[in-house]
Amino acid sequence: MLGRGVVLSLTAAALAACAPAPAAPAPVPAVATAAPSPTPRPPLPLDGDGTPQVLPTPPDLVDRRLPTVDELPPPADGTFTSTVSPVPPDVLARSTWAPQCPVAATDLRYVTVAFHGFDGRPHTGELLLNASVAEKVAGAFHSLWDAGFPIERMRITSVAERDAPATGDGNTTGAFVCRAARGLTRWSAHAYGLAVDVDPFQNPYRNGERVLPELASAYLDRANVRPGMIRPGDAAVRAFARIGFTWGGTWRSPVDLQHFSATGD
Ligand SMILES: [Zn+2]
Repeated sequence: MLGRGVVLSLTAAALAACAPAPAAPAPVPAVATAAPSPTPRPPLPLDGDGTPQVLPTPPDLVDRRLPTVDELPPPADGTFTSTVSPVPPDVLARSTWAPQCPVAATDLRYVTVAFHGFDGRPHTGELLLNASVAEKVAGAFHSLWDAGFPIERMRITSVAERDAPATGDGNTTGAFVCRAARGLTRWSAHAYGLAVDVDPFQNPYRNGERVLPELASAYLDRANVRPGMIRPGDAAVRAFARIGFTWGGTWRSPVDLQHFSATGD
């Protein structure tokens, strides 16, 4: 999620109108939609070195198909829509951008795209992306829409979310996060708005025993195909390959199944 070697603290945070809309392709069977967790999960216990522990996936998240809570108005006519614009000041203020980040705010774009939820409904998500890739990434999400690929939440990461203690159950699709890589020796591709993470819980990052999100180990079994999983050659991989993004699922170690990057890392 954060690029290779990045210390990642995935938190619980990350993202139909009236006219008879033409039916979009059904993204997932409208069955087995689990109710959201009734209460937020607590922070994970820490290892001796302060790293959040990797714990078994709770039974209710082994086949995770949570409905999306609309934080932005869903697409009015049920068809794909997207917008690309300069970042509004209020959006910048609730993001992780700060003057010391390696990208100027004027080089970021505020992108909204429609997506299908695991609940089979259309929703709208938001991303901050580098201006050099914003239109292309919006096009990739159009392809995901056409393929019916389900996404749980797509929302700009706040400082509070980035810095909160890990709960291991986050599942926010996103792009720009101003964060350093491990050891503070370099920035993550996310810190430039040049990488996108898609459904992190269904597509965890793994580096040895480290799994992120920490409760997502059930999704290391890629033979057990469940909705939202990115698989070699599928619509998501093809969509991002078309715009020149590398998939972290092709890396040997770490393997970052959720991660698509314009920089190759
Ligand atoms: Zn990533």
